[in-house]
Amino acid sequence: MGLSKRYLELLSRRPTWSTAAFRCTGQKSRSITTGRLASLPRTPLFEAIKSHDPESSAVIHSLSGRQFSYGSLLKDVAIAKQRLANDAGRDAGALQGERIAFLVENSYDYVVTLLAILGTNAIAVPLSPAFPSGELRYILDQSGALVLATSSKFATKADDVLNGELDKKPILSRREKIVQGSKSKEDVVLEEMEEDKGGMMLYTSGTTNRPKGVLLPQYTLMAQAKSLSEAWHYSPTDHFLHVLPLHHIHGTVNALLTPLLAGSTIEFLFPFTVDSVWSRLAAPFLSTSSGQTKKPITFFTVVPTIYNRLLQSHSTLSPDMQSATKEALHPKNMRLNISGSAALPTPMKQAWTDLSNGNVLLERYGMTEVGMALSCGLANEDRVDGSVGWPLPSVEARLVDLDTKTVIEPGEELDSSGKERSGEIQLRGPTIFKEYWNNPTATAKEFTEDGYFKTGDVAVRRNVPSAGKGASGEWAQGPMYSILGRLSADIIKVGGEKVSALEVEREMLSIPAISECAVVGLSSETWGQKVAAVVVLSEAGKTAGKNGKPFGAMDLRRGLKNKMAAFKIPQELRVVESIPRNAMGKINKKQLVIQVFGPQQ
Ligand code: AMP
Repeated sequence: MGLSKRYLELLSRRPTWSTAAFRCTGQKSRSITTGRLASLPRTPLFEAIKSHDPESSAVIHSLSGRQFSYGSLLKDVAIAKQRLANDAGRDAGALQGERIAFLVENSYDYVVTLLAILGTNAIAVPLSPAFPSGELRYILDQSGALVLATSSKFATKADDVLNGELDKKPILSRREKIVQGSKSKEDVVLEEMEEDKGGMMLYTSGTTNRPKGVLLPQYTLMAQAKSLSEAWHYSPTDHFLHVLPLHHIHGTVNALLTPLLAGSTIEFLFPFTVDSVWSRLAAPFLSTSSGQTKKPITFFTVVPTIYNRLLQSHSTLSPDMQSATKEALHPKNMRLNISGSAALPTPMKQAWTDLSNGNVLLERYGMTEVGMALSCGLANEDRVDGSVGWPLPSVEARLVDLDTKTVIEPGEELDSSGKERSGEIQLRGPTIFKEYWNNPTATAKEFTEDGYFKTGDVAVRRNVPSAGKGASGEWAQGPMYSILGRLSADIIKVGGEKVSALEVEREMLSIPAISECAVVGLSSETWGQKVAAVVVLSEAGKTAGKNGKPFGAMDLRRGLKNKMAAFKIPQELRVVESIPRNAMGKINKKQLVIQVFGPQQ
């Protein structure tokens, strides 16, 4: 499936986007207040959108079936840009670099609002409507937002937020729902922009401290999108089913900005429910369905918990639905299934391959501060179990030994006794964020002197003889990275040994009695730390212990005895009804330990 010629040309014109690329001489971006469409800056994103087939669908609202074409997108963005300036009581040029927060549902309106802010050369701060008002106020204050834009759906929430205590109250900008794309005959003019002051700011989940604002300038966003496009071959024929929240890097860069750059179609179906996803996937393949007018979904990128829930519910579907969904997932229809944002358990990956008749989940690793950094390749042999592959195009990655603090050079992956050396992943290149907003201390702390970002994630690099031969592109070669987990929560130090919580979890999840688990470290007087597990049992697990009792610590020990060294096997096990996760399926292990085992020293 090839990229359009024009799109490839645009990507190759600016091989590495930098601030310099935007510091073109020429007219300053200005707004037009005469009733004509406002101009937009000549950035790679707007140039690409302008070059796409105007008839093709940019955005579809899955439930209503409403479609919005690339032909109307830029016009609606120009109109929204002007409205934003009017609401703020300023010329659009005077909004450059300002933070504009917005509360808009997953829809065409979200896309238009985000692009209008980028088109104003301002910084877009997407807010999650699911957050309590107090947290949203913190973000508004921390970012110093000048404007809070809201859709009519969240107007009450926005009022509630603004009625609370704030350092400085942002200007409220209410957006009307766009029911039909603009039919204006006028073309949107793209003008040179003096300097890139815009971008997007996402807030970290703040597991230890208050959330930090991660500033991703436009050139960084484009470098991220370009890198993904090269690796995963986004194209105008791709049709995304978008079910992710839009205040996170996964939903915004991987599943929104990159498809827009490539001219793909994004179909929003939110919030995620297993039934609605199965129904949508099946629609084009059901013989008695009005859904036959719906196109097959070709690209689906979500987190492991979503794949898990889909897998667990599949057998409850009707026979017709089961066969239609299998057809939808078959590699001939679904071009690419991606998993990330948390570790993908191998049994889940295998179950998806079996269900789809050969669609192997492609795993990648990334984070808010760096976009996507490591990825398996498009060729099936380059989607290796338990691995996140290679540094994506333009990403420089290295491992820094946890003990010696030296860089693990290629070829030095084993120590003198033949043991794997684990190291912190450090990253550099055009895809890395610029700074934590208004927090120079945190920014300085997380970068090395030679410009690498310290991710706080630990990995090993392994040679996999069957993979990395270049079938997925030049970037996907050599030894592959495997994530051991976050240094702060997943690397458990038992005596002198390091245990990767993710590796233990992976083994535990292959035991049928266990449906979900989180491996954590508890303090131990003897060993410094000991390994413990919090577990949700499967139906079978409830009677899988001795004499029909629930599966317990002894059964776990027996199950893992031949698979891992004794010090890695959890000493304690607690069974719970459910493990709390955030919107991206992540577990806050620090909180979980306190909840389940009580405070640790
Ligand atoms: P966030 O910034 O919320 O996207 O969280 C990023 C964190 O998620 C990373 O620092 C990793 O700890 C974790 N993560 C992302 N992708 C993976 C993956 N494929 N495997 C394991 N952990 C992952």
